[in-house]
Amino acid sequence: MEEQIKVTAEEPKKLNFLEEIIEKDLKEGKIDSVMTRFPPEPNGYLHLGHAKSICLNFGLAQKYGGKTNLRYDDTNPTKEDTEYVDSIKEDINWLGFQWDKELYASDYFDQLYEWAEELIKRGLAYVDDQTQEEIRLGRGTVDKPGVNSPYRDRTPEENLRLFREMKAGKYAEGEKVLRAKIDMAHPNMMFRDPLLYRIKFAHHHRTGDKWCIYPMYDYTHGQCDSIEHITHSICTLEFDVHRPLYDWFIETLGIYPSHQYEFARLNLTYTLMSKRKLLELVQKGLVAGWDDPRMPTLCGVRRRGYTPEALRMFCEKIGVSKRDQLMDIQLLEWCVRQDLNARSNRYMVVQDPLKVTITNYPEGQVEWFDCPLNPADPEGASRKVPFTRELYIDRADFMEDAPKKFFRLKPEGEVRLKYTYIIKCEEVVKDAEGNVIELKCTYDPSTRPGAEGPWRSVKGTIHWVSCEHAAEIELRNYDRLFTQANMNDIPEDKDYKDFLNPDSLIFGTGYAEPALLEDASGIAVQFERTGYYFKDPDSTPEKAVFNKTTALKDSYKPE
Ligand code: ATP
Ligand code: MG
Repeated sequence: MEEQIKVTAEEPKKLNFLEEIIEKDLKEGKIDSVMTRFPPEPNGYLHLGHAKSICLNFGLAQKYGGKTNLRYDDTNPTKEDTEYVDSIKEDINWLGFQWDKELYASDYFDQLYEWAEELIKRGLAYVDDQTQEEIRLGRGTVDKPGVNSPYRDRTPEENLRLFREMKAGKYAEGEKVLRAKIDMAHPNMMFRDPLLYRIKFAHHHRTGDKWCIYPMYDYTHGQCDSIEHITHSICTLEFDVHRPLYDWFIETLGIYPSHQYEFARLNLTYTLMSKRKLLELVQKGLVAGWDDPRMPTLCGVRRRGYTPEALRMFCEKIGVSKRDQLMDIQLLEWCVRQDLNARSNRYMVVQDPLKVTITNYPEGQVEWFDCPLNPADPEGASRKVPFTRELYIDRADFMEDAPKKFFRLKPEGEVRLKYTYIIKCEEVVKDAEGNVIELKCTYDPSTRPGAEGPWRSVKGTIHWVSCEHAAEIELRNYDRLFTQANMNDIPEDKDYKDFLNPDSLIFGTGYAEPALLEDASGIAVQFERTGYYFKDPDSTPEKAVFNKTTALKDSYKPE
């Protein structure tokens, strides 16, 4: 990882398009400082796509000495909840960022309402009695201009009265809406008298029952940005058609000129980034919850053992683009390994045990070997690993009819037990069915690391644990949630749930060296020669549970 950082620090990095815009705005004196915001809707847990937006918004402000507000876009009371509000804050902090102000679109409901009255008085908004369907049909299509609503020419006085009555709760949901009066033939459909307010008798997580009319996204977002003097309002590409309307409200109201910029949303192979679909997985019990370690949510990957450092590295690597792309999840896994390889503690855990008896090792003797917690830091802390006469090795590290290139244990063969002695396989013990149940070996005391005399080396080194000291742990070996790489492109006659990977969770048992249970690093650990694992909160004093974070190695190399 050291090396990784050095390389990127020395190469002068090309500015991304947002940095170019910001540097130009600062240079031309258009702005004094940078103000960004992260605007989640509190209707679900944050996912990896949001991490990209967070790293971008907070990262840009940090780079240019500015600030970032956390603003909840809470204009849709029926789907929102304080559970989500709290989780979002936790996730942003975990990623390593701190917002300037915690704000809510609902903080501005009074101001937004006042501006709506202003638009009505200026003849720029009207109350429409048409049904949702009539409004939809009246909008026309891209090739066909819309038609004016029969209610479009109500006087400002009448509109003001009706709008106030809407607010007072006189009308039922769907009976009336407030629309901007712009142009029903406008080439940009967004301008065909967009909805500003709809009636909703719903309890709001912050404003309670104060309101029964709620502002629409387009009428809300730009004005909120403007109130907070957001200089660069960054959102995903699908909002580019909204930008002219964003500007229209700000210009028409003559308020602080925030500007919107769009970047490509993050899509990742073998997973999904839609809160709606993730919610469905949770509600249908197809995953264990929002924080299921297979989920692309931040709480999910956190439980899996991904680190904030790895996520920030990933966001840095993918950069920002103006074109939608599908990113390879292997790049994210690569970043996780980069970070964990540099920092994680090592332990030996056997998953499929085969008993080894060292026949020339004294019964009852225990030698405690001092082993580095991280070989990259040999001077650093160590752990004590007990060696005894009876050990477990992984079954896959023994082969009876081994090919020439098999450098682990085989009959008559030698191998080094990691950190300790070279042993030789003298006898293979089998049960009545012919299954190998035990290996009788001898050890060579002169091969003890640090012993006098010449160092004898063998080709293979394997991990092991002392039977007597091994702690039984539960393993949850996770794999990808879906079987198809591009989950945004599934056949029409199929549902995304048809592609759930049936092998995304395989339970296992591990036999761990005792020091594992004392680990206090707080991050994922490396099970030597196997993979990275992170302790799960389901662990009890009787049984520790470890989630597989990622495999140890992969042939994948980032470009
Ligand atoms: P979803 O479609 O999953 O519901 P959303 O865009 O509705 O996502 P919001 O809570 O409104 O979710 O998003 C907050 C911010 O995060 C927005 O600025 C949005 O553009 C950004 N964001 C959401 N998904 C992604 C993504 N996949 N990649 C990058 N940014 C994203
Ligand atoms: Mg949204």
